Amino acid sequence: MDSRTIALIRTTFKAVAAEEGGSEKLARSFYAILFTDYPQVRDFFPAAMDAQRDRLVKAFSYVLDRLEEPSKLLPFLAQLGRDHRKYGVEAEHYLAVATSLKTAVQVFAGTEMWTDEVDRAWDEGLKVVTDTMIGAAEKETTPSVWTGTVTERREVLRNLTIVRLQLDQLMRYAAGQYVSVQIPSRPRMWRYLSPAIPANTNGEIEFHIRGVLGGWVSSAIVGQTAVGDRWLLGSPLGGLGIPRNAKRKMLMIGCGTGLAPLRAQLMAMALRRINPKVHLFVGGHHPCDLYDLETLSNLAVANRWLTVTPVTELDENPWWHGEHDETARLWPGLEPRVIGQIGKIVSSFGAWADRDVQIVGAPSMVQTTKFRLMAAGTLAKNIRHDPLY
Ligand SMILES: Cc1cc2nc3c(=O)[nH]c(=O)nc-3n(C[C@H](O)[C@H](O)[C@H](O)COP(=O)(O)OP(=O)(O)OC[C@H]3O[C@@H](n4cnc5c(N)ncnc54)[C@H](O)[C@@H]3O)c2cc1C
Repeated sequence: MDSRTIALIRTTFKAVAAEEGGSEKLARSFYAILFTDYPQVRDFFPAAMDAQRDRLVKAFSYVLDRLEEPSKLLPFLAQLGRDHRKYGVEAEHYLAVATSLKTAVQVFAGTEMWTDEVDRAWDEGLKVVTDTMIGAAEKETTPSVWTGTVTERREVLRNLTIVRLQLDQLMRYAAGQYVSVQIPSRPRMWRYLSPAIPANTNGEIEFHIRGVLGGWVSSAIVGQTAVGDRWLLGSPLGGLGIPRNAKRKMLMIGCGTGLAPLRAQLMAMALRRINPKVHLFVGGHHPCDLYDLETLSNLAVANRWLTVTPVTELDENPWWHGEHDETARLWPGLEPRVIGQIGKIVSSFGAWADRDVQIVGAPSMVQTTKFRLMAAGTLAKNIRHDPLY
């Protein structure tokens, strides 16, 4: 796509989305058109569409922001295409979505903004997206969906649960990637989770899940998961991970369950002979939020290339936290715990100019930390994180 085509697509979308409540209205209109004109696609979506609408706009904005970077965008779209096989979608469904999205934007943009040139730009842009997703899905030979049985459920905090599953088919994901997951009590409500251990020939997989207040799926996982439950998993996604011959040092920053994909990478690295130096900052609000210090301590003791600094915003645990407080222990191999906002702490070390950086956690934490690092001189091209939706 040339720069004019990209500019036309971006300007029309942003003009529509930037209006008061524009993104919400656009998403509502898109789904109304889609379900009216193509009722056969309604079954792919959950009954409650609120979270779905929000995700649509964020996902589309993510794609729009990367139109000038085909080397990043096309692999991302290909991964999404492979993942979408789990819904059973066919080429005709992609075309239905593309047509409905164009119609929704066109209606909101109005006749003055929607010129023939804009119309052609949208056709071209949507064709790149749909062709890439359809092409990748058609070429893929791995299962469209993996099935697994919950073998273990461990509540490590009041609202944080570790779930282990035995997969029926091996899944080859790179440590650091994430997968979409569907649990039995929440049909069609797929959510992304990051495996906390590397792919293995036993077909075991582990997830760390924090219950989000009012969240449809996370609270059901934390509150109701039982051994024997059958989960569905989609294809691996995401670009975090360690290059095979990584030479550059690494900086990893993870808060809460954001530790999971970083931990998986550290475990994968521990199986290799040579590794670059890695500094991991693991963060939480209270000291008790650092729920996995024992694993990190074991990794740091056994691997001299790894430095781990725990960071918490507060020095004390909340009053309701029990007396049995493992986090107060001094774990061997770990740096002393530092108190403060994680982005501020990490950037106070300098620009980390010799490091490849990965940030994982809640979207606000990722954005603040990235901002702080860039203000300290870290180059944006050296910072990686997953899409924030
Ligand atoms: C790439 C990626 C990897 C992820 N990996 C993990 C993981 O390993 N472990 C894990 O626990 N979660 C992970 N998540 C988050 C997870 O996918 C869900 O978004 C989260 O569990 C909430 O889902 P829900 O159905 O409970 O909430 P929803 O019903 O989707 O949302 C309910 C409300 O909660 C808000 N909300 C949603 N997510 C969050 C959040 N993270 N923090 C604060 N508010 C939120 C929504 O805006 C909405 O208002 C990951 C997300 C992404 C994008």
